[in-house]
Amino acid sequence: MDLGIRGRTALVCAASKGLGKACAMALAREGVNVVITARGSEALEATAEEIRKAFGVKVTTVTGDITTEEGRRAALAACPAPDILVNNAGGPPPGDFRDWDREAWVKALDANMIAPILLIRAVIDRMIDRKFGRIVNITSGAVKMPIPELGLSNGARTGLTGFVAGLSRDVAKHNVTINNLLPGAFDTDRLRSNIEFRAGQLGKGAEEAARIRAEGIPAKRFGTPAEFGDACAYLCGAQAGYVTGQNLLMDGGIYPGTL
Ligand code: NAP
Repeated sequence: MDLGIRGRTALVCAASKGLGKACAMALAREGVNVVITARGSEALEATAEEIRKAFGVKVTTVTGDITTEEGRRAALAACPAPDILVNNAGGPPPGDFRDWDREAWVKALDANMIAPILLIRAVIDRMIDRKFGRIVNITSGAVKMPIPELGLSNGARTGLTGFVAGLSRDVAKHNVTINNLLPGAFDTDRLRSNIEFRAGQLGKGAEEAARIRAEGIPAKRFGTPAEFGDACAYLCGAQAGYVTGQNLLMDGGIYPGTL
């Protein structure tokens, strides 16, 4: 299916690796020019080159921390009026909530709630003027099914979800959509480091902990970043203009509810 977004421009945050990279790749495959960000420049440049070679689109890189004012300023200077915005950043560390002070909470809120809201604020009015805009926030399956040791993530991402639930209805009449993608377990560096933390708790090796984790998923495997990127591209497509304010859970069936 042609998604009808060839020639559009996307700002894809935190996209040198993992799920952000997969979103940038899937959009580039559809002919979208992408501006990708990350803190580390080495992996970012390598990803940019990989995308250029594979899809021949324009790829711009912005090195910086998207959870800071400076990082967002740099990203928006390179891409002031994207047609598509994919919000993403690293997730907060796991732990015990007794150890998290105000600073830890503010950091999590900055990264996983306030940064995406400020980026949306910066770009949405031009999307409205243009009568086209697609915003996808990478959140987490933990919004629907909280993970106890990821309490910082559970809290911050649920705040973002509540905010965009309202805003998405307000801008839908302008063909601007806002949806959230909720990853369960996808095979990325982030997942592997969470598994290592869990392995330590269980007193097992990382491979064994990964096997146990995958066994508990109805699909009996982790998701692939490419599967995630494809869903993102669909939500950013011209045909998805009637899909907004949704939370698409991609978790191999682990969430047990009927709805
Ligand atoms: P990943 O493989 O570790 O990749 C993270 C990417 O984001 C890297 O390119 C990283 O590059 C960049 N990044 C991280 N923090 C950044 C920041 N502050 N500013 C700019 N770029 C930043 O992680 P992932 O698995 O793709 O996870 C993406 C998001 O989905 C995270 O929030 C994670 O918590 C969430 N999630 C993932 C899973 C999963 O199973 N993978 C499940 C639920 C939720 P630099 O380090 O160079 O900045």
